[in-house]
Amino acid sequence: MHPSNLFRRRLLLAGAAGLAAGALSGVAHARGAAVQPDIDGTKVWGARSPQGTVSVLQYRPSRIVVHHTVSANSTDYSRARAHAHAHWVQDLHMDDNGWVDTGYNFLVSRGGWITEGRTGSLPALTGGRAFVLGAHTSGQNTQAIGIACEGQYHAGAQPPQAQWEVLVTLCAYACDQYGIASTQIFGHKDYGTTECPGVYHDMLPELRAEVAAARS
Ligand SMILES: [Zn+2]
Repeated sequence: MHPSNLFRRRLLLAGAAGLAAGALSGVAHARGAAVQPDIDGTKVWGARSPQGTVSVLQYRPSRIVVHHTVSANSTDYSRARAHAHAHWVQDLHMDDNGWVDTGYNFLVSRGGWITEGRTGSLPALTGGRAFVLGAHTSGQNTQAIGIACEGQYHAGAQPPQAQWEVLVTLCAYACDQYGIASTQIFGHKDYGTTECPGVYHDMLPELRAEVAAARS
């Protein structure tokens, strides 16, 4: 990537995700050219402890599956809202579904804040050699990490630009860390009868293209 483009992208991110300029100065270029985004780990957003053992798979995932959480399309784009949304999802998955922890590996808020989902997903991603077994896509959880976008996009709503930008950045970083081809990004409905992730599914070709560009 041309330095001016990288700078522009960082500026975009700083605006989109509300990141302080200082937080971007030490950006690591792990294995490829993708920018490492800020991700709030479970301790940062105050997640509950898992109710049982979380399994860490000692190999790299081969694809990414995109979801939406079907939460309300909030117009609160704050980091606090991203944390509240992470709690809402965790409570739903642990208390209603009876799962050990949040089903997704990562969540992207409508304001462009990233939170770690299932505990351990963040250190596994930064390590780049293992990933946490989630509960997000039947038949795919041992091969794919799940990234869920806050909101519901199956009834005509369009995702906020900040969420889109940060989804691109997170996917690019995950692809670089795990050596996943940019073409290997899918939507939940590719693997089952669901409307998830709504219009994001129609946007997958553009997502793959922008991820590829972010890595080059
Ligand atoms: Zn889904």
